[in-house]
Amino acid sequence: MIYLDYQATTPLAPEVARAMHPWIEDKFANPHSPSRWGIEAEAAVEVARKQVERALGLKGGSLAFTGSATEAINWALKGTVEKTRGGRNRIVTVATEHAAVLDTCEWLAGQGLDLTILPVERDGSIDLELLARELDDRVLLVAVMQVNNEIGVTQPVSEIASMAHETGALMLCDAVQAFGKLEVCEGPDLVAISAHKIYGPKGIGALWMRKGAEPAPFVHGGGQERGLRSGTLSPALCVGFGAAAKLADERRTRDYDHVQKLWHAAIRALGPGWTINGGTAHRYHGNLNIRREGVDAARLLADLRDIAFSLGSACASGSGRPSHVLRALGLDYREARSSIRLGFGRYTTQKELMDACHRIAAHAHAQEKLDA
Ligand code: PLP
Repeated sequence: MIYLDYQATTPLAPEVARAMHPWIEDKFANPHSPSRWGIEAEAAVEVARKQVERALGLKGGSLAFTGSATEAINWALKGTVEKTRGGRNRIVTVATEHAAVLDTCEWLAGQGLDLTILPVERDGSIDLELLARELDDRVLLVAVMQVNNEIGVTQPVSEIASMAHETGALMLCDAVQAFGKLEVCEGPDLVAISAHKIYGPKGIGALWMRKGAEPAPFVHGGGQERGLRSGTLSPALCVGFGAAAKLADERRTRDYDHVQKLWHAAIRALGPGWTINGGTAHRYHGNLNIRREGVDAARLLADLRDIAFSLGSACASGSGRPSHVLRALGLDYREARSSIRLGFGRYTTQKELMDACHRIAAHAHAQEKLDA
């Protein structure tokens, strides 16, 4: 199998698996219990927290572990609305955000929140003048992601945070696809991240919160995570997240150079006839979302079962609906359905990527001939 779906999830790094191992096999204590073993587990969780915070590199706040980035985003949005009940009541976000943001905002709109979803340009960028016109003293929060999971396009998050702050609004950044790969932008008050996108385990994410911007608790119970997010933490998952964050931070330049070389090589190997979805000027290079006229991407995926790639986003795949991100770029139904996403990373070799691209190109060509 050739794995080209690194935006959906990444393999567990061997170093991370080794760090987690004792906490899965022998060290089972509850990190919130006062026994010697509990204290040891708590210490391991706190080392992991510091590792993730250091890799994130943001100042003036702290981090709470969650079960996923989806939970962190739900908490950030719902908890901020809850905290400011009776005050500002408007959220501004963007049409290309992940469903974790868009669906939560839609749910809040059903509860009476005023919601504005901004369109994007054809290259996936936000028109900052349009955003400026939407910002007024009713806006509670602006939610914009740093790297898009489907098309890899980056947004000027620090600039957007400054604009939000000027009008007294907070900013949430979904940094899930940026963390561990690019420098995470300074400025936002709330930042959501996830371990399984950085060669860590599934089932753990985190919300970084600027001091004073902590949302109201969303999960109530035993008072863990300073009373902000109850529930017994898993030392194994926290240790894995910490190890993955440390490793990603140490290898960031090397990993980036690798995916950038692969990105250019993939374009060359695919040959002519393909169009890149989303702009190329501001992007993460471990993502290549492309389309080719006349190609039925779902058929391509079915024909090439031993290559793991995706149609638009993994979340949209299987739903039969074309990706909301590609539609937001202005692609029509046919163009969206002829698009595929190749995602590569630390463990992708040039040879396997070349093999995959040659086979994808050959199948696309064969489809065109068959349909002609
Ligand atoms: N935000 C983005 C941009 C993502 O790519 C994902 C995962 O696909 C999420 C949020 C949700 O992360 P998690 O799987 O940790 O819930």
